[in-house]
Amino acid sequence: MTELHGAAPRDLAALKSLLAGAMGPVRYISGGTDLLVAPRMLPDKGLLVDISGIDGLSYVQHDSGWLRIGATTSLAALARDETVSKLLQSLARAAEQFGSAQIRNRATIGGNVANASPAGDLLPVLKSANAFFTVLGTDRHERRLAFDELILGSGNTALMHGDLITEIAIPQSNILPRSGFVKLGRRADLTVSRLNLAMQAEYQDGLRKFGIVWLIAGAIGPAPMRLCGVEDSLRGMTLTTVTVRTFLESLVSAVDRAIPGRASLKYKRRAIMGLGLDLLEQITGIAQTDKAFEDAL
Ligand SMILES: Cc1cc2nc3c(=O)[nH]c(=O)nc-3n(C[C@H](O)[C@H](O)[C@H](O)COP(=O)(O)OP(=O)(O)OC[C@H]3O[C@@H](n4cnc5c(N)ncnc54)[C@H](O)[C@@H]3O)c2cc1C
Repeated sequence: MTELHGAAPRDLAALKSLLAGAMGPVRYISGGTDLLVAPRMLPDKGLLVDISGIDGLSYVQHDSGWLRIGATTSLAALARDETVSKLLQSLARAAEQFGSAQIRNRATIGGNVANASPAGDLLPVLKSANAFFTVLGTDRHERRLAFDELILGSGNTALMHGDLITEIAIPQSNILPRSGFVKLGRRADLTVSRLNLAMQAEYQDGLRKFGIVWLIAGAIGPAPMRLCGVEDSLRGMTLTTVTVRTFLESLVSAVDRAIPGRASLKYKRRAIMGLGLDLLEQITGIAQTDKAFEDAL
């Protein structure tokens, strides 16, 4: 096949019969917010399948101990979904801050995952919950991959030609009671993150005490990175000025190790402390003072 053909199936059955008859490479377009702004990403031959109109691929469900999200669910739908806000506040926050209203209306969770940008905002959140992905292959068989099996590096996934992500699923057991998401970009709106953090935590208000903490940083490496040393600075600790200072210092050390010698290092060392304070406020509900920030400098 030497030309590019397009198709827009209305349901998964129609997609599967398209795949059965496809001769050349198969690619997908969902919201088009990555594909259409980077023409080099557009294929020049084969079959380009528009999945945005496929029935039954856009949904949020919470059943049988799983939070399930259809791959073509838009960022706008995620941002306004009550189940998402209730269960995984970090995902709702990442969706709310994503691009602009127009971008949120078009961009999809499946596209964000498949693009695997180091700055992708949903990836740290999905890694913090060790999300699973259902993938439909061109052989029409489905398989399920865990986060670290799918996302391999910058723009690099385990998806093979024609593989379609159909669902993102998070087991309830991977969801902690508190979660937060913060990001830093060049501009307040329409921004691609230069740094982002997603946290899930157990935290007792009365005792001001942390239990388990999971923390993931984005945009400081080819793929989202778990910051185990920073988690250790909070796990089992009471929220005191010393704890906050130790937390900020370990965030800075994590950045030092992740991007040694990078021109942006000085800026990111300061920036990550500000993000860390905002994240703690989201988790604990207590505004953090700049005193800890100054102390940690
Ligand atoms: C102005 C602007 C602002 C932006 N702001 C942000 C931001 O704040 N945060 C952020 O993370 N990103 C941002 N982005 C990037 C982009 O919007 C996201 O990555 C978005 O989630 C991509 O989804 P989409 O549906 O538009 O993907 P598309 O452009 O349709 O597809 C992207 C890639 O994924 C593949 N694909 C899509 N869906 C699937 C699927 N279900 N299975 C397999 N492959 C699939 C396509 O083949 C293509 O290679 C921004 C982009 C623009 C233009």
